[in-house]
Amino acid sequence: ATEPLAPTLDSARRVLKQYYGYDSFRPMQQDIIQSILGGRDTVVLMPTGGGKSVCFQVPAMVQEGVCVVVSPLIALMKDQVEALKANGIAAACINSSVGQAEQNSIGRACQAGALKLLYVSPEKLLSEGFLSFLKRIQVSMFAIDEAHCISSWGHDFRPEYTQLRVLREQFPEVPIIALTATADRLTQRDIQQQLRLNDPQVFLSSFDRPNLSLNVRPGQDRVNGIINYVKQRPTEPGIVYCLSRKQCETLAGKLKEKGFRAGFYHAGMTDRARSEVQEQFLRDDLQIICATVAFGMGIDKSNVRWVIHYNLPKNIEGYYQEIGRGGRDGAPAEAVLFYSYADVAQLRDMITKDADPRLAQLNTTKLERMQQFAEAASCRRRILLAYFGEVLDKDCGNCDICRNPPVTFDGTELAQKALSAVARTREQAPLTLIADVLLGRRNQAVIGRGYDQIKTFGAGANLSFLDWQSYLHQLLNDGLLYIAYEQGYALKLTDLGWQVLKGERKQQLKQFQVPAKAEKAPKGR
Ligand code: ADP
Ligand code: ZN
Repeated sequence: ATEPLAPTLDSARRVLKQYYGYDSFRPMQQDIIQSILGGRDTVVLMPTGGGKSVCFQVPAMVQEGVCVVVSPLIALMKDQVEALKANGIAAACINSSVGQAEQNSIGRACQAGALKLLYVSPEKLLSEGFLSFLKRIQVSMFAIDEAHCISSWGHDFRPEYTQLRVLREQFPEVPIIALTATADRLTQRDIQQQLRLNDPQVFLSSFDRPNLSLNVRPGQDRVNGIINYVKQRPTEPGIVYCLSRKQCETLAGKLKEKGFRAGFYHAGMTDRARSEVQEQFLRDDLQIICATVAFGMGIDKSNVRWVIHYNLPKNIEGYYQEIGRGGRDGAPAEAVLFYSYADVAQLRDMITKDADPRLAQLNTTKLERMQQFAEAASCRRRILLAYFGEVLDKDCGNCDICRNPPVTFDGTELAQKALSAVARTREQAPLTLIADVLLGRRNQAVIGRGYDQIKTFGAGANLSFLDWQSYLHQLLNDGLLYIAYEQGYALKLTDLGWQVLKGERKQQLKQFQVPAKAEKAPKGR
């Protein structure tokens, strides 16, 4: 008897060519697909636009059975399935908006082995009847899209995702592929633990987008700032992210008054009005969209040349995702953040209203990291990438700081004092407490933990609290330290931090200055 041949990379390549029209896999896609075809649990951490879909869709096509794709956004799901079907791929979706008759026919297609990809919402997947239905058909694998939704430390936690652990219990033989564009340490760990992944292969692709230039401008008079900005780019499509619906509408109105083709987009509009605006932007009938963060999920417009943030975003994850909508074609694009301290205060108020104190604290810390990015004096790309656990070996040359560097000094000794305080508190103290230790403050927290006995106590008493806070922020931004949110926000040393502490590497610091009202604007192009 002849066994069917196990699917190979060759057959995958043929499918890629036939159904997607691409000649080759991107380097990481190839490794990922090999892992999946080998039946391994697989974690894929890749920025938006990296090409995650192909990673599970192509293996799904060459394997027996149906790949069940879990996706959190019903609207997105429908679009994806339509796009697949348009390319001749046997795909369907089941969610609350799909009627019983259609569900039955999808069920029959699965049983007949005629369906390759079945998209479901987590609620649907976990419902009693659905799991037993899946037991009666052949499931090739589970693909968990937007897998970061499983982590309560992430920026997009969805409680129903935590129930996905039943997949491993009920389908121990079926491989699980988890995919996300978020890659911070905690999220990675949560994904693996909560999905009960079995010795997964983890693929972390670089989150760097070198063609995206990063810029921060002072937030005073931002409306005129934006108008002048777009005047210099009369044909380039771009997005302005605003905090409130009202701001979107007002700004779009002002831009229209000035003769720009601008529209607005937010969650308060009807579905119809939203998809209309979106279409107009995709067709370049509108040059500018003023939008809340509701805009952009799943929008594949590759020639967005600039992304402006009218307000400070709430956290770096969200910011990174939003600016990532610029320059997806690889050509130069600009991100410009308008920053004023007032935004921090406003966001902090919003965040601390959260009823869950744990969440309020977490989001406050994330906001502080965002603030540090905006106030930074070192390469902004380093800061972003350090946040995602990635280290750049040199400054990027494509951010406002690199182009207009502030004055720095050899801060190795100061850095060593701070790093040593972190090490000697056995990496269990949060930032303010470390500053207290350096300053030699005998407050309750310090004495209670016995930190007044350690060698670094008072080693930085000649400086002020604000100095130390600034230096510690710089060390975080440069990737020498990181914050363990789950351990009382303790500061911990990275490999780079240990190197500086041991004197194997020097560290530049920027002199701390009381924040000036306006900073030098980046040079125009
Ligand atoms: P993600 O889900 O990671 O955001 P997508 O799967 O939407 O990314 O892919 C981003 C873009 O890259 C899409 O336009 C897709 O068609 C394209 N793409 C993916 N894989 C390849 C490939 N191997 N060769 C060329 N283009 C690709
Ligand atoms: Zn830089």
